[in-house]
Amino acid sequence: MKIGVLALQGDFIEHEQMLARLGAEPSEVRLPRDLEGLDGLIMPGGESTTFGKLAKRFGLVEPLRAFAQSGRPTWGTCAGLIFLARDVGRDQVTLGLMDVKVKRNAFGRQIDSFTCDLNIAGLPDGPFPGVFIRAPIIESVGKSVRVLCALDDGTIVAARQDNLLATSFHPELTDDLRMHALFLRACGRAHEQGSLTPDS
Ligand code: GLN
Repeated sequence: MKIGVLALQGDFIEHEQMLARLGAEPSEVRLPRDLEGLDGLIMPGGESTTFGKLAKRFGLVEPLRAFAQSGRPTWGTCAGLIFLARDVGRDQVTLGLMDVKVKRNAFGRQIDSFTCDLNIAGLPDGPFPGVFIRAPIIESVGKSVRVLCALDDGTIVAARQDNLLATSFHPELTDDLRMHALFLRACGRAHEQGSLTPDS
């Protein structure tokens, strides 16, 4: 399976390594033509304002929207989540696809980065190591969005809307392959079904 990783900036290489460890073929996306033939797409951590500026410059905004709207699984981690969101509370270029309101840098500065165990709906075999680096939170979700994980205080850090998956944290910076494996299973199903019924 060929999975694209948005490679404008940020930790795309770490995602590629996780995908390769699971036997998928990672493929870097920098230009619209790089989206051809992909079974899924990951948008990494990094700086969401930079994603927006570069995506606009390279004519990627509409092609990325069209890709996600085709029903193929699309996953944003951290800055990638911000880039997917409909509302980020300020004026910056995003894809605006996921019906969530996001607050950037919600836990403070780089020095306030932390890790904690997370219970994620649909993820077997116990807690997942959550790595939060100047992470956003999801402040509110629309009706079509399912919350997959919240911290003890109710702060939403993972959600799904049909074929769109979003996590505030960075599974690509852990040794735990389970989130990537889950995403690849969704890509496999979409591939088999020709992207007609992305939800499962
Ligand atoms: N703080 C970044 C932003 O707002 C996200 C940080 C990250 O991806 N680790 O875009």
